[in-house]
Amino acid sequence: MKYVRILLFLAGLSFILSGCSGECGDLQGSAAPEGTGPWESVTQESAESLESTARESIAQESPEKDFYISEIDDEMFSGMQGRSYREGCPVPREDLVCVHALHVDAGGVTHTGEMICNRCIADRVLGILEELYENNYPIERMEPVDSYGGDDERSMEANNSSCFNFRMVSNTNVISKHGMGLAVDINPLYNPCVRKVNGVLSVEPETGKPYADRTGDFEYKIVKDDLCYRLFRENGFVWGGEWKSLKDYQHFEVPDEVSDELMKEYLQAK
Ligand SMILES: [Zn+2]
Repeated sequence: MKYVRILLFLAGLSFILSGCSGECGDLQGSAAPEGTGPWESVTQESAESLESTARESIAQESPEKDFYISEIDDEMFSGMQGRSYREGCPVPREDLVCVHALHVDAGGVTHTGEMICNRCIADRVLGILEELYENNYPIERMEPVDSYGGDDERSMEANNSSCFNFRMVSNTNVISKHGMGLAVDINPLYNPCVRKVNGVLSVEPETGKPYADRTGDFEYKIVKDDLCYRLFRENGFVWGGEWKSLKDYQHFEVPDEVSDELMKEYLQAK
C-alpha cells in the first residue's frame, strides 16, 4: 500500500513536471499526462525510505514549539472533505501536512496560524513563515481554506494566507498548483490576481480591486525585493507578480524544476 501511495504522489507530481505557467491563482497548473512521470521507476525500497525519512524529519518537530509541522489528523482531514479536499484529488492525505506558525498582523498583534501544504515543501514554508514573523512582516490571517468552505474567493476576501486547496479548472483536467499544495498565497486581499479576460479587467478577489493599482502605498502590499519576496525566491519559489500574461501578486509557487529536485532529494535520502 505504501508503494501505491508513493506512486500516486509521484504520478501527481508528474502533472506538474510537465506543466505550463502564466495562469491565475487556481487556474495555475498543468494538464495531467498519463503515466509519464520520471519517478515511476522508483523501487519499493526507495519509496519506503522516502516515506520514513520524511516522517522522521517531522517527528523531530516538537508541538510545544511555536513553529512546527504536524500530520493531518483525523479531525482536520474530516473537515477538509468536500472543501479543500475534493473528489479526484491526486495527493494522498499522507503527503499533506499542517505547518503551524505564529504571525503578526499590521496592528502588531501576534496570532497562531495553520497552513496545509505538500510535505515536500513544508520545511521551506515553515522556515519562511518563521523568518517573516521574526522580522515583523505582517500577515493578517493564516488558516486552512476549509474555514471558508474551501471557497477561494471567500478566503481571499478575508485576506487569508493559505496553500493547499484542490480543484480542477472547470471543464478541463488542469490541476492547480494549490491543488498539489505547492503554491502559497500571502495576504491575498491586498495582493489580488489581476488579468484581462476578453479585454475586461478581472480582479480576484473582487473586493481587492482597490489594490490592483500597485502604485499606491498600503498595508500588506507585496513588492519585489521585500522580505516576503526575497524569502520565497531564496527558497526556490517564483512570484506571480512577475508573470507577464497576468499579475498574481499574492502567489508564490514551486516551479517544475524545483519540485523535480525536491523529489530527487527525497529519493536519495536514507
Ligand atoms: Zn495562488
